[in-house]
Amino acid sequence: AAKGTGKSQWRRYEPWMRRSLMDRLALRTSLEHAVDNHEYFLEYQPIVELQSRTTVGFEALLRWQHPTRGRLSPHAFIGVAEETGLITRIGDWVLTTSLDAARRWGEQTAGRAPYVAINVSARQFRNETFAGSFRRLLAESGLPSDRVVLEITESLLLGEDDRIRSDLQRLRSAGVRIAIDDFGTGYSALSYLRHVPLDIVKLDRAFITAMTKSGKQRELVAGIVTLARILNLQVIAEGIETQSQAEAARQAGCDFGQGFLFSRPLPDPEAVRWAVGEVVPGADG
Ligand code: C2E
Ligand code: MG
Ligand code: MG
Ligand code: MG
Repeated sequence: AAKGTGKSQWRRYEPWMRRSLMDRLALRTSLEHAVDNHEYFLEYQPIVELQSRTTVGFEALLRWQHPTRGRLSPHAFIGVAEETGLITRIGDWVLTTSLDAARRWGEQTAGRAPYVAINVSARQFRNETFAGSFRRLLAESGLPSDRVVLEITESLLLGEDDRIRSDLQRLRSAGVRIAIDDFGTGYSALSYLRHVPLDIVKLDRAFITAMTKSGKQRELVAGIVTLARILNLQVIAEGIETQSQAEAARQAGCDFGQGFLFSRPLPDPEAVRWAVGEVVPGADG
């Protein structure tokens, strides 16, 4: 498939994946083989401090270079990976690969090395071995724990599971930060999250898009940010595409932002160059 950086190449809806049981079985098999065949890869999207526009971290985003279908976005296959349980194997690969990438960034960006934010699906986290095996992978990687953020979803927190909460607490005690992803798209109010061990709230793109359209939406976001501060949470605004969205998010009190305005997700070597170029201003990158 042609290589490019345009968003249009991502196929968000793949009718062939839903067509029949046979197709789903084929998808399952190819998802499984894709790990061994090295068909997955990660891209890293900068997370910037809105005030200074410096990069503080990168979110690792999974892509699949399918042998015949081309590059596929996670929306096209994460669901099936979760249903079949393959997300555990794929997720382990994501963890190992992104921890290793972040360790290497650290070697090249002395001083203010960026963190890596890793998406963990609910199904993956619910596995009772997850927290322990993550901590083992982290120790093996040699990456300091304060350079890792785990992004979880609201759906993980439904049902008041004590074990989930204690796993989150154990990870935080080890120095790993926890972010709640796509906040505002699910069912939980921020007040509910006061019972959950968290560090960061990622405000869904829907809020950011709406903010530049109405004053009420700006007030709503400012209110969420105020509540987040009371709960000692940092706020990242997701999906910032325009300068006016960046400015609105900053004025509403968001500390950090992420979106195409700053950068699209980058292949690893470009992410390093980006980080080096930004963290050490004026250096050759
Ligand atoms: P997410 O974690 O909320 O990741 C952000 C998504 O927004 C990414 O889509 C990113 O490319 C996209 N994005 C970033 N900036 C902008 C922007 O300015 N405008 C717009 N319209 N979109 C923007 P992507 O890479 O297609 O990933 C989709 C979702 O797939 C992720 O949403 C995450 O939930 C899931 N995902 C990605 N990688 C992994 C992974 O390794 N494991 C798991 N379990 N899920 C993953
Ligand atoms: Mg995420
Ligand atoms: Mg998100
Ligand atoms: Mg989102």
